[in-house]
Amino acid sequence: MKNIAVLGSTGSIGRQTLDVIRQSDEEQFSVFALCADSNAELLAEQANEFKPSVVSIAHANKYQELKDRLNYSPDIVVGNNAANLCGGHEKVDLVVNAVSGVAGFKAVSLALYKGKIIASANKESIIYLHSLRNALESGTSPMITANDSLRIIPIDSEQSAIFQLIEGDPENNSIFDRSSIENIILTASGGPFYNTPIEDMKHITVNDALKHPTWSMGKKITIDSATLFNKGLEILEAAALFGLGADKIEVVIHPQSVVHSMVRFVDGNVKALLSVPDMRGAIQYALTYPKRRKRIIDRLDFSNLNLSFLAPDYKKFPALCLAYEALREGRVLPVVYTAANEKAVEMFVNGQTGFLDIAKRVEYAMGKSYCNKISPDAIIEIDKLARAYAAEWKG
Ligand code: NDP
Ligand code: MG
Repeated sequence: MKNIAVLGSTGSIGRQTLDVIRQSDEEQFSVFALCADSNAELLAEQANEFKPSVVSIAHANKYQELKDRLNYSPDIVVGNNAANLCGGHEKVDLVVNAVSGVAGFKAVSLALYKGKIIASANKESIIYLHSLRNALESGTSPMITANDSLRIIPIDSEQSAIFQLIEGDPENNSIFDRSSIENIILTASGGPFYNTPIEDMKHITVNDALKHPTWSMGKKITIDSATLFNKGLEILEAAALFGLGADKIEVVIHPQSVVHSMVRFVDGNVKALLSVPDMRGAIQYALTYPKRRKRIIDRLDFSNLNLSFLAPDYKKFPALCLAYEALREGRVLPVVYTAANEKAVEMFVNGQTGFLDIAKRVEYAMGKSYCNKISPDAIIEIDKLARAYAAEWKG
């Protein structure tokens, strides 16, 4: 029985995580803690169903509503530290990090420090942790290793695919032999504007950008999928998890989102991981790892399956080149890229900037100078500065 804390339980990944647990054998998982930002109504509904011992909400003004809606008496934790306390609780074995954005970094740092296993959908936290790690030791070693120090299991579908493709080769201390890999190939749906001419892209509205062709996700990641910043973040995430440099990570557009990613080996053989586009497949694998349990996603039907692949358009989607640039620097710029993008997306959603300006704001912030000595405090400072630069860009 694994005691699970779900951070961000009311979001898209959080709800799907609870669905995976709902459909699993009863003795497999126990939901120990649930945590949300402000959605007291759904959080209470989830708590009343799963009866976790701890229920936590970041917005303290939601405490009373949450309490009133609960039909039992768990410990209720409120405030900025809610997620940290939840994930770091001594009774928790596995923390699902389904918080959106950089808020997920703060939540997961303590849990990792306390030795929890993290099933992470959140990519921002992986990127920040990696920058910290690069400052302390060699940045080329993977964050995922095979022995009992395996602490991070990816949920993001591309990283889950790579993880599934290379695990099962547990030589030494590593889950895979990096010398056998020529590169990894991250697939990208291309988002809703892949075929939109660039001259029409400056008129893209928030509503247009929120219509993703293949995935149903939270707001931030849906906008990121439209700009391809999501793929840029995944380049940085893959580099962190698997210890790969920029020359070992390729991106290919694959509009059907059936091939979740691929590994190209030095002898020319390529392995791909396929399934229907349903995040519950990757979530279930992360929760049951190293075992596999009965399928809850639809079976992939090959009888009428057409798959296509094409090269990315780097000119229309500068997010990719900026990510490679950030990765080559590897310390400060991945944090700047992540924070500046989060700020620019927030501004776009609030009608304060245009769609194409998101990348320009990030590029501008990446061109500024920052303190070069990385520490947990410095990361918070760099994050703050990068947001301020992204906001001040005037065109
Ligand atoms: P959503 O916006 O749907 O959900 C975010 C969740 O985080 C909500 O439960 C929200 O609570 C909670 N939250 C936000 N801030 C805080 C905070 N400060 N403290 C505690 N909880 C907080 O996002 P998604 O589920 O789409 O994405 C979550 C993460 O997973 C992201 O990092 C994303 O990049 C990644 N991911 C998502 C995929 C998807 O298919 N959705 C696929 C791959 C990766 P509330 O509801 O109260 O606001
Ligand atoms: Mg993904």
